[in-house]
Amino acid sequence: MALLEIKRFPDPALRKKGEDVKSVGLDEKKVLGDMAETMYIKGGVGLAAVQVGIQRNMIVIDIGDGLIKMINPVILKRELDETQEEGCLSVPDKCINIKRSKKVVVDYLNEDGRAVRLSSEGLLARVIQHEVDHLLGKLIIDYLNPLKKICSSLKPRKL
Ligand code: ZN
Repeated sequence: MALLEIKRFPDPALRKKGEDVKSVGLDEKKVLGDMAETMYIKGGVGLAAVQVGIQRNMIVIDIGDGLIKMINPVILKRELDETQEEGCLSVPDKCINIKRSKKVVVDYLNEDGRAVRLSSEGLLARVIQHEVDHLLGKLIIDYLNPLKKICSSLKPRKL
Protein backbone atom coordinates (compact mmCIF):
# COMPACT_ATOMS: atom_id res chain seq x y z
CA MET A 1 0.00 0.00 0.00
CA ALA A 2 1.11 3.52 -0.64
CA LEU A 3 -0.15 6.91 0.38
CA LEU A 4 -1.18 8.94 -2.66
CA GLU A 5 -0.94 12.70 -3.03
CA ILE A 6 -4.34 14.37 -3.07
CA LYS A 7 -4.54 17.19 -5.62
CA ARG A 8 -5.95 20.42 -4.31
CA PHE A 9 -7.91 23.15 -6.04
CA PRO A 10 -6.85 24.88 -8.34
CA ASP A 11 -4.71 21.97 -9.61
CA PRO A 12 -5.79 21.46 -13.26
CA ALA A 13 -5.74 17.67 -12.75
CA LEU A 14 -9.03 18.06 -10.85
CA ARG A 15 -10.71 19.38 -14.01
CA LYS A 16 -9.82 16.35 -16.09
CA LYS A 17 -12.35 13.61 -16.67
CA GLY A 18 -11.83 9.98 -15.79
CA GLU A 19 -11.86 7.30 -18.45
CA ASP A 20 -13.65 3.98 -18.11
CA VAL A 21 -11.52 1.05 -16.99
CA LYS A 22 -11.46 -1.53 -19.81
CA SER A 23 -10.46 -4.57 -17.82
CA VAL A 24 -10.10 -5.04 -14.09
CA GLY A 25 -6.86 -6.59 -12.89
CA LEU A 26 -4.13 -6.39 -10.27
CA ASP A 27 -3.26 -2.84 -11.26
CA GLU A 28 -6.77 -1.62 -10.52
CA LYS A 29 -6.85 -3.53 -7.22
CA LYS A 30 -3.61 -1.87 -6.15
CA VAL A 31 -4.83 1.62 -7.06
CA LEU A 32 -8.12 1.05 -5.20
CA GLY A 33 -6.20 -0.22 -2.15
CA ASP A 34 -3.91 2.81 -2.18
CA MET A 35 -6.90 5.14 -2.62
CA ALA A 36 -8.67 3.55 0.36
CA GLU A 37 -5.58 3.88 2.54
CA THR A 38 -5.19 7.52 1.51
CA MET A 39 -8.87 8.24 2.23
CA TYR A 40 -8.63 6.73 5.73
CA ILE A 41 -5.39 8.50 6.59
CA LYS A 42 -6.81 11.85 5.44
CA GLY A 43 -10.05 11.31 7.35
CA GLY A 44 -12.30 11.36 4.27
CA VAL A 45 -15.44 9.32 3.59
CA GLY A 46 -14.88 9.13 -0.16
CA LEU A 47 -12.11 9.57 -2.75
CA ALA A 48 -12.10 9.56 -6.54
CA ALA A 49 -9.08 8.54 -8.66
CA VAL A 50 -9.11 11.94 -10.39
CA GLN A 51 -8.34 13.50 -6.97
CA VAL A 52 -5.01 11.66 -6.88
CA GLY A 53 -4.17 12.51 -10.49
CA ILE A 54 -5.33 9.20 -11.99
CA GLN A 55 -7.75 9.85 -14.87
CA ARG A 56 -9.69 6.62 -14.51
CA ASN A 57 -13.23 6.00 -13.34
CA MET A 58 -12.61 4.54 -9.91
CA ILE A 59 -13.85 5.63 -6.48
CA VAL A 60 -13.69 4.41 -2.90
CA ILE A 61 -16.26 5.18 -0.21
CA ASP A 62 -16.62 4.40 3.48
CA ILE A 63 -19.25 6.31 5.41
CA GLY A 64 -18.66 4.08 8.43
CA ASP A 65 -20.52 1.02 7.12
CA GLY A 66 -17.56 -0.61 5.40
CA LEU A 67 -15.40 0.05 2.37
CA ILE A 68 -16.99 0.14 -1.09
CA LYS A 69 -14.77 0.16 -4.18
CA MET A 70 -16.43 1.17 -7.45
CA ILE A 71 -15.09 0.95 -10.97
CA ASN A 72 -16.91 2.74 -13.83
CA PRO A 73 -19.81 3.95 -11.64
CA VAL A 74 -22.89 5.14 -13.51
CA ILE A 75 -25.86 6.73 -11.77
CA LEU A 76 -29.01 5.23 -13.30
CA LYS A 77 -31.72 6.80 -11.23
CA ARG A 78 -32.08 9.82 -8.95
CA GLU A 79 -34.98 10.54 -6.60
CA LEU A 80 -35.97 13.37 -4.26
CA ASP A 81 -33.79 16.33 -3.34
CA GLU A 82 -32.04 17.22 -0.13
CA THR A 83 -29.62 20.05 0.76
CA GLN A 84 -26.73 19.29 3.10
CA GLU A 85 -23.27 20.48 4.01
CA GLU A 86 -20.30 19.03 2.18
CA GLY A 87 -16.56 19.33 2.39
CA CYS A 88 -13.92 17.96 0.02
CA LEU A 89 -10.38 16.67 0.51
CA SER A 90 -9.39 18.61 -2.63
CA VAL A 91 -10.97 21.89 -1.47
CA PRO A 92 -9.67 22.27 2.08
CA ASP A 93 -11.42 24.48 4.65
CA LYS A 94 -14.56 24.93 2.57
CA CYS A 95 -18.00 23.75 3.53
CA ILE A 96 -20.79 24.29 1.02
CA ASN A 97 -24.51 23.56 1.14
CA ILE A 98 -25.34 21.45 -1.89
CA LYS A 99 -28.67 20.17 -3.16
CA ARG A 100 -28.42 16.59 -4.37
CA SER A 101 -30.70 13.62 -4.88
CA LYS A 102 -31.64 11.84 -1.68
CA LYS A 103 -31.71 8.43 -3.33
CA VAL A 104 -29.65 7.13 -6.21
CA VAL A 105 -29.22 3.78 -7.93
CA VAL A 106 -25.71 3.16 -9.22
CA ASP A 107 -24.20 0.47 -11.45
CA TYR A 108 -20.50 -0.33 -11.17
CA LEU A 109 -17.91 -3.08 -11.35
CA ASN A 110 -16.38 -4.32 -8.12
CA GLU A 111 -12.65 -5.02 -7.85
CA ASP A 112 -13.24 -8.56 -9.13
CA GLY A 113 -14.77 -7.11 -12.29
CA ARG A 114 -18.28 -8.22 -11.35
CA ALA A 115 -21.26 -5.98 -12.15
CA VAL A 116 -23.08 -4.63 -9.09
CA ARG A 117 -26.26 -2.54 -8.81
CA LEU A 118 -26.62 -0.60 -5.56
CA SER A 119 -29.58 1.39 -4.24
CA SER A 120 -28.45 4.07 -1.83
CA GLU A 121 -29.87 6.93 0.15
CA GLY A 122 -28.84 9.68 2.53
CA LEU A 123 -25.12 10.15 3.10
CA LEU A 124 -24.09 7.21 0.91
CA ALA A 125 -26.12 8.58 -2.03
CA ARG A 126 -24.57 12.00 -1.46
CA VAL A 127 -21.00 10.68 -1.42
CA ILE A 128 -21.62 8.65 -4.61
CA GLN A 129 -22.86 11.81 -6.39
CA HIS A 130 -19.91 13.85 -5.08
CA GLU A 131 -17.34 11.26 -6.26
CA VAL A 132 -19.01 10.81 -9.65
CA ASP A 133 -18.78 14.60 -10.00
CA HIS A 134 -15.00 14.31 -9.48
CA LEU A 135 -14.82 11.80 -12.34
CA LEU A 136 -16.49 14.47 -14.52
CA GLY A 137 -14.04 17.19 -13.43
CA LYS A 138 -16.63 18.89 -11.23
CA LEU A 139 -15.98 20.33 -7.74
CA ILE A 140 -18.18 21.52 -4.86
CA ILE A 141 -17.24 25.15 -5.55
CA ASP A 142 -19.03 24.83 -8.90
CA TYR A 143 -22.29 24.74 -6.92
CA LEU A 144 -21.60 28.12 -5.33
CA ASN A 145 -23.65 31.09 -6.42
CA PRO A 146 -24.17 34.49 -4.81
CA LEU A 147 -27.43 33.38 -3.19
CA LYS A 148 -25.91 30.33 -1.59
CA LYS A 149 -24.30 30.70 1.78
CA ILE A 150 -21.18 28.86 2.77
CA CYS A 151 -22.20 26.76 5.73
CA SER A 152 -20.91 27.12 9.23
CA SER A 153 -19.55 23.67 10.09
CA LEU A 154 -15.97 23.78 11.21
CA LYS A 155 -15.46 20.14 10.38
CA PRO A 156 -17.62 19.14 7.43
CA ARG A 157 -17.38 15.57 6.14
CA LYS A 158 -14.65 15.40 3.55
CA LEU A 159 -15.42 13.61 0.31
ZN1 ZN B 1 -14.29 15.78 -3.12
